[in-house]
Amino acid sequence: MYLDGIFGLKGKTAVVTGAGRGIGQVAACGLAKAGAEVVIISRSGAEETVDMIIRDGGKAYDLKADVTKEPEVDAAVAEIIKSSGKIDILFNNAGICIHKDTLSSSIEEWRSVIDINLTGEYIMARAVGRTMIENGIKGSIINMASMSGTIVNIPQWQASYNVSKAGVIHMSKSLAAEWVGYGIRVNSLSPGYIATPMSEDVPKDLKNAWEPLMPMHRMGKPEELLPAILYLASPAAGYTTGTDLIVDGGYTCI
Ligand code: NDP
Repeated sequence: MYLDGIFGLKGKTAVVTGAGRGIGQVAACGLAKAGAEVVIISRSGAEETVDMIIRDGGKAYDLKADVTKEPEVDAAVAEIIKSSGKIDILFNNAGICIHKDTLSSSIEEWRSVIDINLTGEYIMARAVGRTMIENGIKGSIINMASMSGTIVNIPQWQASYNVSKAGVIHMSKSLAAEWVGYGIRVNSLSPGYIATPMSEDVPKDLKNAWEPLMPMHRMGKPEELLPAILYLASPAAGYTTGTDLIVDGGYTCI
């Protein structure tokens, strides 16, 4: 019921990147349940997520774009403005991770992670922020970071991922300061290990090594991030900008 009140998103248009599966899919469905029209941007399409939202009585459509390619992002954002009139919320979620130690990693691998996780979020935030400013929208941008932006995960090595997420946290603070005068809020979300294709498709011995390091001895579920996403997206977070919201089951505090 609280979704009708201060957490409600009726009349809002929310863009979610990488919502064909995983955290993005759960976020897209949750934002739609809170009343937003949802537009999904991904490389391979998000038909299943769109169907789930429409079956549930919500409004959604998807567009194909690679977040690292500025002309594709600009074309998708222009299409959304044409179809939906405005963008109020961006959940900048698309990302990848490569587990490889620094000396065995290629520069191409480093670049691909930085390109999608950091530069891709910057390209999306810039394109959407521009439309918010042009249309006088006091919107909310939520950039997906990770606890890896604060700590170094073990035992797997993933320097490119950790650096990309630390960059997302500070990019969010930078844009928050730059756009506060327009009424645009920019925050980052930093989950711990969450059970999705990204974290499940790892060798069993790695998952076993993570288990004792997690204070709750389990991964989070994507649904356990949803309240944080709805909070940052909604008027409830009217005084919250430039914040990194960590939802990690206590991983970074011990
Ligand atoms: P998934 O691998 O399940 O989903 C990632 C999504 O990103 C896919 O739908 C993919 O779609 C999309 N994507 C990847 N590259 C691009 C691109 N260049 N352009 C557009 N879309 C792209 O990941 P999760 O749901 O686990 O993760 C989502 C976010 O949460 C990521 O940023 C991740 O770093 C972060 N995160 C995840 C954690 C976890 O434990 N799972 C923990 C902390 C943070 P497609 O291939 O169709 O483009």
